[in-house]
Amino acid sequence: MEKIKLGVSACLLGEPVRYDGGHKLDRFLRDTLGQYVDYVPVCPEVECGLGVPRESMHLEGEPGAIRLVTIRTKRDMTDLMLAWSRQKIKELEPENLVGFIFKSGSPSSGMERVRVYGAGNGPRKIGTGLFAGVFMKHFPRLPVEDEGRLHDPVLRENFIERIFVLKRWREMLQQGEKLNRLVHFHSRHKLLIMAHSVKHLKLMGKLVAAAKEMGSSSVLAEYEKLLMEALKLKATVKKNTNVLQHMAGYFKKQLSGDEKKELVDVIAHYHNEDLPLIVPITLIVHYARKYDREYLEEQYYLSPHPLELRLRNHV
Ligand code: SF4
Repeated sequence: MEKIKLGVSACLLGEPVRYDGGHKLDRFLRDTLGQYVDYVPVCPEVECGLGVPRESMHLEGEPGAIRLVTIRTKRDMTDLMLAWSRQKIKELEPENLVGFIFKSGSPSSGMERVRVYGAGNGPRKIGTGLFAGVFMKHFPRLPVEDEGRLHDPVLRENFIERIFVLKRWREMLQQGEKLNRLVHFHSRHKLLIMAHSVKHLKLMGKLVAAAKEMGSSSVLAEYEKLLMEALKLKATVKKNTNVLQHMAGYFKKQLSGDEKKELVDVIAHYHNEDLPLIVPITLIVHYARKYDREYLEEQYYLSPHPLELRLRNHV
């Protein structure tokens, strides 16, 4: 499998680029997710010419007039960082990234809740790192997260699911007969989309049905927008339970009394949060194979990302 191209704040991979020559190695990102990902590391502060070691910086000011300033000597680095960031975005465009993992809390790389110092009582967590802000504005649909939020199993599963879906979507766009492939892509992702938003699934179904009249470029652009919007919405226990019950309906008539009871019990235990999602999923995979339900077997909902990442063992 071709690896996924993902941007990352360089210090998270262990590169000694922090102001004091240190790093912020995240072992999950480097060692586990790294098996499936080709990282494109970016350190805005080093790459814009500030070097290591350097004076540390923070954000200061009021909303609408926030500046990046060195803490001790009060040098204003805002214009330098913004000019470099705009240039860097142009260099990143051909990389075809499917997302970015930012370093939390950084005045250059933090994607949200970065401390902003003002005249009042202490810092407020209202800022965005300057490079992260430019990146997110330029690539508004790309999945982004920070390493702090990725410690939450639900956010982690959601982000990794999105980057795998986007990779498959991009691969589809590179092939011919796009509208036929769109029908196939949509069919295999239906239940995965349903786990995030039934409303989006309906809109996307209508779009695919009208694809021939609308022409490929506008349909594909609208489909991608809806897809990324849908997947950003959390797949809650309630929504997953709904999808599991829907899937169970496909082999209801074939299951023996014992099998039916086991499946109903397992879904109920998942719903009560006594069992992780991987348990009902494994059982449904087993029955889909046993009773030859090809439509279910093909659903990416059953395997949206490699099993070895164990993301559904914790949600
Ligand atoms: S947080 Fe960003 S700017 Fe700071 S060291 Fe890490 S990559 Fe560089």
